[in-house]
Amino acid sequence: MDDQRTWAQAVEIGSRYYEQLPTAIRAELDKLINEIMGLKERLSKLTLSACGAQICRTCGGECCMNGKYHFSVLDLLAYRNTLLEPVVPTFSAQPNCPYSGELGCLMPPRFRPMTCIVFNCELIENRMNPDQHKALYENENQLRETIRQACRITGRRLDRALLLSGES
Ligand code: SF4
Ligand code: SF4
Repeated sequence: MDDQRTWAQAVEIGSRYYEQLPTAIRAELDKLINEIMGLKERLSKLTLSACGAQICRTCGGECCMNGKYHFSVLDLLAYRNTLLEPVVPTFSAQPNCPYSGELGCLMPPRFRPMTCIVFNCELIENRMNPDQHKALYENENQLRETIRQACRITGRRLDRALLLSGES
């Protein structure tokens, strides 16, 4: 099956899974998803505060190559939680990330995969002061722990790549 069809099928399966979750677990998961989105916003702001936007624009998104497997099942559930339609990838864009367009990432920071949101190359890290580094580290740890918690309460590897989620 090609990537576009695998994606469509994984979106359907993931969406059904979310809709059929027991009410109490879904409420708990929704709370965690909201926390995750808040943490991603905060991490993105920290990057921006170190002039990340200008640096990344000049670089052209070198770290955004081959992002195909970055989008997780949990990232899809975040879209379901907010009732927004998920990002529409273009897999033929390789090696460019399928979730990117002419203006960069198609997703607002709160929906971006964890792998993307926690990564800052040296160009950005070198511009951060100790307080920014500390905040980055704390928020990243909290984000990772909240994602682990979402996996624990559902008993599922929600952090797994959505594209691989249909496999055993
Ligand atoms: S984080 Fe670094 S490598 Fe990635 S787009 Fe920004 S400047 Fe380029
Ligand atoms: S999902 Fe967005 S941030 Fe992540 S690699 Fe793709 S374009 Fe870059």
